[in-house]
Amino acid sequence: MADCLFCKIVSGDIPSQKVYEDETVLAFRDINPQAPVHILVIPKAHIESAACVTPDNSALVAHCFEVIAQLGKELEGGFRVVSNCGPNAGQTVPHLHFHILGGAPLSLEMA
Ligand code: 5GP
Ligand code: ZN
Repeated sequence: MADCLFCKIVSGDIPSQKVYEDETVLAFRDINPQAPVHILVIPKAHIESAACVTPDNSALVAHCFEVIAQLGKELEGGFRVVSNCGPNAGQTVPHLHFHILGGAPLSLEMA
């Protein structure tokens, strides 16, 4: 998707602080962290949101969660996974992403 911010991060047109990468999934640090550790995990393929998961792309989503589980091993005490979907949830980047938040006890309000 030419106009998608996270597709540009995948292609390298926009730099990011990568923490994990393989053929289909990328994880990088959020530019505006809401917790001591705030990582975004995305499929490299453009999927707009959690509302656009289908039998054709759900294996990619499963793989995102395998990566989340691996990255979460570094987060002593646990972590939160959040995916905002659509305007009511405050999704600002229309490319499916999972926030990993951790590194400290999290408030219930923290998204
Ligand atoms: P959303 O609001 O869609 O759930 O999450 C989008 C996230 O992307 C936000 O937490 C925001 O800080 C992050 N973000 C927006 N632009 C950039 C960017 O250029 N680089 C990085 N690393 N994160 C970004
Ligand atoms: Zn995209």
